[in-house]
Formats: sequence, structure tokens, C-alpha cells
Amino acid sequence: MNASSPGREDALVLRRAFEHACAYLDGVAERPVGPSGAAAELRAAIGGPLPESPIDPVAALDALVAAVTPGIVATAGPRYFGFVTGGALPISVAADWLTAAWDQNAAAHVMSPALSIVEETAGRWVTELLGLPAGVSYGFVTGATMANWTGLAAARHELLSRTGWDVEADGLTGAPAISVIVGEERHATIDLVVRYLGLGTNAITVVPADAQGRLDVGALPAALEATRGRPTIVCAQSGNVNTGAFDPIGAICDLAHAPDVGAWVHVDGAVGAWVAAVAERRHLVVGWNRADSWATDAHKGLNVPYDCGIVLCAHPEAHRAACAWIAPYLGATVDGRDNHHWAPESSRRARALPVYAALAQLGRNGVAEMVDRCCVLASRFADRLRLVPGVEICNDVASNQVLVRFDDSDTRTAAVVAAVQSSGECWMGATVWKGRAAMRISVSNWSTTEADVDRSVAAIVRAVAATKAAP
Ligand SMILES: *Cc1c(COP(=O)(O)O)cnc(C)c1O
Repeated sequence: MNASSPGREDALVLRRAFEHACAYLDGVAERPVGPSGAAAELRAAIGGPLPESPIDPVAALDALVAAVTPGIVATAGPRYFGFVTGGALPISVAADWLTAAWDQNAAAHVMSPALSIVEETAGRWVTELLGLPAGVSYGFVTGATMANWTGLAAARHELLSRTGWDVEADGLTGAPAISVIVGEERHATIDLVVRYLGLGTNAITVVPADAQGRLDVGALPAALEATRGRPTIVCAQSGNVNTGAFDPIGAICDLAHAPDVGAWVHVDGAVGAWVAAVAERRHLVVGWNRADSWATDAHKGLNVPYDCGIVLCAHPEAHRAACAWIAPYLGATVDGRDNHHWAPESSRRARALPVYAALAQLGRNGVAEMVDRCCVLASRFADRLRLVPGVEICNDVASNQVLVRFDDSDTRTAAVVAAVQSSGECWMGATVWKGRAAMRISVSNWSTTEADVDRSVAAIVRAVAATKAAP
């Protein structure tokens, strides 16, 4: 180590990391797509005892890259269609590198005025992009789970304070019971945040969903009637993780916000919120600007690196009351936003910077084009696959998700999914939709092209043939 020039050593290892990152991304479109590397081999390479003493940082980095690379999943590449993973736009990766290099604590304005204003601006831009009312409050959190948590924490505050109960001071013991109405096909993390908030999953009333997974709005009045007189949260969903379907949010708001009901409407838009940026697809979320809180994931549809979720709230006082904390050492902020008042975390990375950078580079039209392209490519998947004998498309492809079933058989479907996954050409996950096995295709990466879809369809066709030929 050269104590007289520590800066030079920093730069060396950072430049090396840059070379590794660029080499990886240059090859990501052609490397085998799915998980590879047996756990035992990876553990042998990555594991081992805690080292005793320092070594050269470049050597440490090279060793790390060599050990890890065989087990990296090509989620950044154009033919990974598993879960709803999203890619990472180059501008957002670049901004993420700087987020780490600058190492700002984005908790408070005084710790980084510039990054506080970046977050302020990114929040305002997202609000506008998603067609939400000016002046909604927002917080940048790790993901949609915590965004859902924050929205429901604001709801808990607001609904209980309307009954005269101060939940922040008095907790939930002895408080009026809160009811949470959800659709049958809500995301599992809604139940989790209901647990985290101390409401308990027995507070949940489930409303049936239709064939696409949309909350059946015809069944909502009865559910609201059953919770009448109690503080009630209705959790709607914009973008089902399997089908990509959207709950009829306008109709839900009409019912939940009727003067004699007064429920809080929260929208889990982890997957689907970004379609609100696309003029031709905005009908999917029509009326959603009338909800009380919204959650979304920038690390999915907006294609920024993990981890980045966003909560937005139409009741800034309730949002702040649920999350704010004060300490004498932080002082009072004079001219800026202290981000920690709007999220459950205090110290944290400046995760709004990659969002700001993506929006600054792409603009409204660039985001709309990227989100729309993913949906158009999902339709291309469905259209091509429908022509393959024995293939059934199980959902209406309204956004970026496609569910595929083979020979109307759970075993055939599982076999085709497994064969596609092991081909390395592309990667799609398996799911169960309405009790039947299906292949789940999520198009959510900025870099996917028509050629990638066609190549993936060809891989599926080969997998269908290969698994049929098998004994
Ligand atoms: C992904 C997802 C979540 C959870 O988001 P995380 O980013 O994993 O915390 C919640 N709801 C829906 C609909 C999702 O797709």
C-alpha cells in the first residue's frame, strides 16, 4: 500500500471494476441466461474462512469477480423473462455508480443538499409522469413491499386519527380495529405489510377476482358493507404479477370513497404503475389519481438498478406523521427536504439519483416508449406462441405479462419450462394460475428487441419438440 497516494489506489480498483462491469455487460446478451454454477462449486469459490490480513484491492476484486461470475444470472440481459425483474438502463447504472462513489447519506438535507434536491425533483417528476395530483408526498424505499408498508402506515394513521386515536403515541392495543379489503389476487407482500403494521392478517377481507385476476368490483359493496363503521383500507392492484391485469381502480375509488364509506384506497402498482406514462395505455389506470396512496417499483418497469421502490401519498400530513422522527443532532431543516421523514429508514443511499438520471435522459416520451415497447413485445410473444400446436395463452395480454400452458397439462408445462431454462437461450419462470401450471413470461427489460422475442420463441418451440420426443 502506498500511504502517500491513497487516491491513486482507489482509482486503480475502481477502474478495474469499471473494466469488469463493461466486459460483463458487453457479453451479457450472449451468455447463458439462467442460473448456472452448482451451489457447491460456488460455495467452494466464494466461501472459505474469513481472511486474516489485507491484500491488494485489485487482486481482491479480481478474485471476487472470478469466484462470482459463473453464478451470475443474466437478468441485465435482453432474454431474461423471469419474475418481473426489469433491467437497468445504462444511464441509471452510471448514476448508481456515482451514488456509491459519492456515498451520500440521503437521510437529511444537511447531509447532502444536492441529493436532497435530486430526490425532491425525482419525486415531483414521477408524480407528474404517473398522472398523480401535484403536491402528493413521496418517499424512496427499498422496493414495493416497503412502499406498500408506507402507504398503509399513512392509512393507519389517518383512519385512526379520524376516530380520535393517536396510533403513534398509543399503539394498537385498545384501538378501533382496522379492516383491510383486498382482491383475491393481491400480491403476497400486502399480507406481509398488514402483519408488519400490527393489523394482523385476520383483519383482511378477501374479495373474489375475475379470470384475469382483477378484483371483482361487483363484490366490493358487500365487503364494504360488512366493514361499515370500522376504519377500512381497500388495497387495489395495478398490474398483477402473473397476468399483468389491472383492478378497475376508478370504480373501486367511487365505492370506497362514497361519503358514508370513507375508506382509504391504496394501489399496489409495483408492476403496472408505469403504464400511466403511456398515453395509449392510460385507460388501464383510469381514475387511479383519486386513490389515497400508491406504491411502485422503479427497479421493475423504470429499469433502474435494485433497490428502488417509491411510495406516493395524497395525504402528506398522514404520510409524514407515520414516518417522521426528530433528533436534536439533526437540527431543523431550513430550506430542504429531509427524506427520512417520508420513509421507514433513516440513513440510506441516494436511491433517487438513478431515477432522476433515467428521467433526465429519457424524458416523458422516452419512458413511455420503453414501457410501451415491453408491452408490445409481450403481445408479440403471445401472437407467435399461439401459432404453436398445443400452446394456450392463459391471459389477456394487456401489459407486459404472458402466461403460457402446454398441451393443457401441468407435467408437460413443467417439462417445457425446465427445458427452456436449461437451454440457456432465455429464462422464464413457472407459476400456478387458477390452479393450473403455466410458464410465466415477463417482458420488462429496456434492451429486449423483437429479435430476442423471436429467438426465445424458437427456443420454446425446440423445448416443446424435445420434451415430446423424450420417453
Ligand atoms: C414485486 C411486487 C411487490 C414487492 O415488491 P419488492 O420490490 O419485491 O419489495 C409487491 N407487489 C407487486 C404487485 C409486485 O409485483
